Amino acid sequence: MQTDTDTLTAPDLTWRENALCAQAGPEFFFPAPGSSTREAKQLCGACEGRLACLDYALRHDERFGVWGGLSEKERGRLKRQSR
Ligand code: SF4
Repeated sequence: MQTDTDTLTAPDLTWRENALCAQAGPEFFFPAPGSSTREAKQLCGACEGRLACLDYALRHDERFGVWGGLSEKERGRLKRQSR
């Protein structure tokens, strides 16, 4: 008999190992309200894990900061468009 736990797999978080944001301070990716996110987005643009990072943020409903090159507002817009 197969149970739900038999089919569950751990999420692939290997993209975090090479995350470029790990080299920057948290204030860089979680700027104060009204602050620019441009530099964080530029770093995301060079990050090889960008799409996996964005997918993670969308799946986990991350509300704050820049993830996968998108701000919280941009992720919210993307989610609404995909419904
Ligand atoms: S895409 Fe941006 S936020 Fe995501 S891991 Fe890379 S640098 Fe960090």
